[in-house]
Amino acid sequence: MRMQSEENRRDKKFYDSAVWKKTREYVLRKEPWCRECRREGKMGLAEMVDHIKRIADGGAKTSLSNLQPLCHAHHNAKRAREAMEAKALNSGTISNGTAW
Ligand SMILES: [Zn+2]
Repeated sequence: MRMQSEENRRDKKFYDSAVWKKTREYVLRKEPWCRECRREGKMGLAEMVDHIKRIADGGAKTSLSNLQPLCHAHHNAKRAREAMEAKALNSGTISNGTAW
């Protein structure tokens, strides 16, 4: 059983760290457009850097290949999708490794 609050505290510490701020800045400077918006043919300004594979799922924290710039709307959509996926996984309705 994982302790969610403990994990959140650890995440917050990481997102406050100098190494993350530097990495985030680098990604946004290199790719200032939301990747999902561009996939839809729009030019939405990226407002945050998202972990493609969540840290909680073992995704690399600062590896550029696991990072993507996203706007708020697409980041929220991804979070909602991940929450739904986690719920489905827990209830056993879908198996792990489902491609989105
Ligand atoms: Zn977007």
